[in-house]
Amino acid sequence: MEIKTAEFVISNSEVSKCPNTNLPEYAFIGRSNVGKSSLINMLTGRKKLAKTSGKPGKTQLINHFLINKNWHLVDLPGYGYARVSKSTKKTFQKFITQYFEKRKQLVSAFVLVDIRHKPQPIDLEFMQWLGENMIPFSIIFTKADKLRPKAIENHINDYRTIMLEYWEEMPNYFITSSTKDMGKDELLNYIGDINKS
Ligand code: GDP
Repeated sequence: MEIKTAEFVISNSEVSKCPNTNLPEYAFIGRSNVGKSSLINMLTGRKKLAKTSGKPGKTQLINHFLINKNWHLVDLPGYGYARVSKSTKKTFQKFITQYFEKRKQLVSAFVLVDIRHKPQPIDLEFMQWLGENMIPFSIIFTKADKLRPKAIENHINDYRTIMLEYWEEMPNYFITSSTKDMGKDELLNYIGDINKS
């Protein structure tokens, strides 16, 4: 699939205010600074569609973009743990969990992780949470230009080993680099094929 048009639709912090359409939706999420905005800009071929920033803790908003007038790309805020009062139980921010629990249009999530880092508990726990809630997702490894092919393979094997402790198989994944346009066709064709079926 080729992206011909990409338009910003709306930003908001409430799932109930997300666009009321039946268009299929794909959500991109990951920790702050993982390279999410750069990836969205690479996919859409637009340099500034999603705002890139090195600063963590930007305003937490759900951003909808209309792609080719027939599907939504959703830029979700970075996740973090929210501590429930009088409890040490860790949960993810409420509006993020509500988005995934309530948004019927969601077809699949993409969880971004920086390929340079060892599997981090918060990312693993978030994927675990998606699995428990039956939300389909793929992993997107970002910044692959920063590692040599052998190191990429080793880091993915680290993930595989740890994922197989919880999952029957390694989730679907993509290896990407926004500076090298790597993984773009694979990701867009994946979405295009689901939209066709
Ligand atoms: P976000 O906070 O997840 O939206 O991350 P950004 O897209 O703003 O990127 C965070 C930082 O990582 C910026 O300094 C980007 O230039 C850098 N970055 C993002 N993607 C890549 C990539 O594929 N390769 C390299 N080398 N740097 C990247």
